[in-house]
Amino acid sequence: MKNVFLIKYGELAIKGKNRPIFENRLVKTVKKNLKVLGNFNVHKEQGRLIVEPNDEFVDKDAVIEMLTRIFGIIGVAYGTKEEEVTLEAVERLAYSHMKNLCEDANGQLTFKIETKRADKRFPLKSMEVSSTIGGYLLDEFGDKLKVDVHNPDVTLMVEIRNGTYVYSKTYKGSGGMPYGTNGKATLLLSGGIDSPVAGWLIAKRGVEVDAVYFHSPPYTSERAKDKVIELAKKVAVYTGSMRVHIVPFTDIQMAIHEKCPHQQLTIIMRRLMMDVTEAIADKNNSMALITGESIGQVASQTIHGLVATDDAAKRPVFRPLIGMDKEEIIQIAKKIDTFETSILPYEDCCTIFVPKHPETKPKLDRIIESQSKLDDVIEQLLQEAIDNTEVVEV
Ligand code: ATP
Ligand code: MG
Repeated sequence: MKNVFLIKYGELAIKGKNRPIFENRLVKTVKKNLKVLGNFNVHKEQGRLIVEPNDEFVDKDAVIEMLTRIFGIIGVAYGTKEEEVTLEAVERLAYSHMKNLCEDANGQLTFKIETKRADKRFPLKSMEVSSTIGGYLLDEFGDKLKVDVHNPDVTLMVEIRNGTYVYSKTYKGSGGMPYGTNGKATLLLSGGIDSPVAGWLIAKRGVEVDAVYFHSPPYTSERAKDKVIELAKKVAVYTGSMRVHIVPFTDIQMAIHEKCPHQQLTIIMRRLMMDVTEAIADKNNSMALITGESIGQVASQTIHGLVATDDAAKRPVFRPLIGMDKEEIIQIAKKIDTFETSILPYEDCCTIFVPKHPETKPKLDRIIESQSKLDDVIEQLLQEAIDNTEVVEV
């Protein structure tokens, strides 16, 4: 008898050719995330992933906590397994499971049994297994147990597949759509609070998320860059991995600073960020862009500012935080464990070049006119930034 974790995922959402892609990715993500918690065997088994610890001691709660975060996992059960696929094996597992539950309970326990027979060669049908095991447990435990099919204290789950499994509790997963089954989008990831949350929300819908970070050395330090990579890793706990493109942005910022009106600096910078991100998205089959903007949060995020930024993007720009207050965003950041990293006090490229009096109602035509002052240099600067982009896989 071995302890195992059974992972349940949204089977309906991954019909057809998405299915093996998703399942293989899920296996990889589970293995990667569990590495820090010990040595585990992970394998696919008809609509489930089975995780078997190889170590004697496992921190069961930490494993469950880790697994329930991964997008696409609906639930995680912790139970026991016998390799043998026989009624006797079911009895042994059910007996031992019930014994533990009866010891913990004070007074009589009500229960029912539900059986899933994935291996149709098993001689008894699901209902027959349930009633046979129910009768067996009542014989063994006497009046400590009573059957209640409507509102039982315990639902004992029996699964008959490549082995025999018994469990009674399923921990809810973070839900979301199976990751990677809904195309790809590119996140403008800064070191702030908002953009990691924005990326997480879109990834939750099954969209594969790549990230782009604009780095401005020496005005932004290596530590600022490491912080962004750390944030990408935190989001990757849910998704498995993330590719971060680190774009050298200093020369472009200097050019804007030198040639454009200072009150329009941020918007023009944002538009050029869009240009670079578009080029990176082109190379990576990414279909949309994502930012952490929210209406009115700062001067560049007024509706006028957003319209002027949007104009520079060809692809749709997803802004999942658009209607959220900072407090609501912070709550999600705390829940997904990015908050503490986001508030580390390293400088951001935008904070260094912020104008004293940013325009809050920039007119698109005037912005375009100001931006045209860069015409003779910008093409080359953009190309250099793209050519010198560093890619980090987390
Ligand atoms: P965040 O907390 O995400 O940094 P913010 O409230 O500080 O957001 P801004 O600095 O105005 O907002 O940035 C708006 C959006 O532009 C960010 O959410 C992010 O998507 C993008 N962005 C800003 N700076 C960078 C950067 N250095 N690299 C990549 N994207 C950036
Ligand atoms: Mg920011």
